[in-house]
Parts: sequence; C-alpha cells; structure tokens
Amino acid sequence: MTTALITHTDCLNHVTPPGHPERVDRLMAIYSAFDAMDLSNVLRIDAPMGTDTDILRVHPRAHIDAVTDAAPSVGSVALDADTHMSTGSLKAAYLGVGAMTKAVDMVLGGEVQNAFAAMRPPGHHAEKQTPMGFCLFGNIAIAAKHALDAHGLERVAIVDFDVHHGNGTQDLLWDEPRTLFISSHQMPLYPGSGAAHETGASGNIINIPLQANSGGAELRKAYERVVIPALNDFKPQLLLISAGFDAHRNDPLANLNWDEADFAWATQALCDVADTHCEGRVVSTLEGGYDLDALAASTRAHLEVLIKRGTHG
Ligand SMILES: [Zn+2]
Repeated sequence: MTTALITHTDCLNHVTPPGHPERVDRLMAIYSAFDAMDLSNVLRIDAPMGTDTDILRVHPRAHIDAVTDAAPSVGSVALDADTHMSTGSLKAAYLGVGAMTKAVDMVLGGEVQNAFAAMRPPGHHAEKQTPMGFCLFGNIAIAAKHALDAHGLERVAIVDFDVHHGNGTQDLLWDEPRTLFISSHQMPLYPGSGAAHETGASGNIINIPLQANSGGAELRKAYERVVIPALNDFKPQLLLISAGFDAHRNDPLANLNWDEADFAWATQALCDVADTHCEGRVVSTLEGGYDLDALAASTRAHLEVLIKRGTHG
C-alpha cells in the first residue's frame, strides 16, 4: 500500500489580492517541499473536477449558483472582507471538491492506504450558504458525505487541527449523526465560534478551544484526554483530517505556538486511531498555514507520517 498525493497546478490560478495571507506562494512553498522529499513510493494524482452532485450533499443549489454567478471573467471580486475570487477560483474550488472525493474513492477502494490533498482555496470555513474565511465549498464535509452516501459507510470522523474553528464543517454536519466532527482551535480568534458547548444536534460535534500561547503540550493533553477517547468511542470507518498548519509558532495569524514535531505527533496519534478502527484509512486535506517556511516544513512533517504509515501499515 502507499499514499496518494493529490493536487492540481490550476490551484495556482486562484489569485488573491496583494498582501492577502492565503496566496499562491503557499502552494508553491508546499510544492518546493515535495521536491525535496523522497516521493518514489507515493502515487501522485492530478485532482479531477468535483461535481454539483458532490457539493449538493452539503450545500443548497442556491450556494452553488451564488458562487458561480460571483466568479469574475476578468480581475477579481471580494465576496467578503477576507474571501476573494479571481478568474481561476471557481475551477480551483471544484478541483478542491474533486480532490477529496477522489481521495475517498482511492482509500476506500483499497488503491492506497491514505491520501493527502494539497489544494487551495481551503474549505473548512464555508457554511451552507456563506462563503467565508478564504473558503468557497466545504471540501471535507463533502468528502464525509461522499463516503457515507456514495460508499455506504456508517461512521466517518473528521478531526480539524487548523488554528481556527472549523465553523463551516460544523455548520454543514451539525445534524449529521453519522459523522463525528472534532475541532481544536485557538479561542478567542476568528471566526468566533467553536465554544465547548457547541455539540451538534446529537452530540456529534466536539469543540476544544485552546488558549493563546498554550503550546504543543496543551495540544497533546487535549488529544490524550478528549480527541483520542472520543474517536475510540465513535469507532470511525474512515478518518478525515482538516490539516491547517497555522497553529505553528511562526504563523502570523495566530499564537498556539505548535511546531513541526507537534503536527507529526498529532498525525501519528490519528493514524494510530485509524489503525485500530478503520484499517488505517486516512484522508487529509490542506486548510490554513500562512508562514511559508513553517507551512512547508509542517506539511512535510505531516505527509512524512502518512507516507511512513502508508508504506509500513
Ligand atoms: Zn486557519
């Protein structure tokens, strides 16, 4: 078995205004990290386009229409203060959806052990009818629904370690009892949601707010005390990861002060759970991470764990 690495260079055509943190250079930095890695055992795949059928599992038609209608034919447009579309953004967003459904298909089909999708724009802030926080479609929630509805799974877990609350994933899966969504995030911080009392319609959501400057030690405690026991209770048949790397100590948008070793540790812990309950089946996707060097090093640390687990089980 091996790891699938899914991306598409058309994600470089999603161009944000000068000075915007979610920028083309992020993916370029990640590609440079890939170039420095031994990927000889990795299956590299160009992301296919996602479909409206995929997106409609979590967003209403009105959302697809609004995003499609907003897409500019020249220049760029601001959907809100943070979220922009250029001429290449709509295609990049559909590729982000397709990357995740393809990753789920490959992992559940037994073609690969696990998968990482290096895509932008990210997805975990997009709510049912509201693009926000640099995000247009809720890629990871779409992937979860695809695993449930197209593959017939009964339980899919999603763990989000981006430094920001995964409000979009929470919104899209609030009343979906077949999913368990666990988000750890700095609080207070954008977008402001993610308090511990937000638990979903059936206790299917767990929010773990962390204090600024709490560091990797608090992350590890939270995983040992809350995340891993909850996953062991839920017994997922597939584990999805919203892998944002903006909790890194060098990130300009937040202050959780994790480092590459913390991201590797969290990835190992999640792979251990996946080994126990779902034959090691893990699909991970890039969310945030805005210091280019920290993003490249953290993505590499995360991917190296997936590759090691993909190769050796
Ligand atoms: Zn983030």
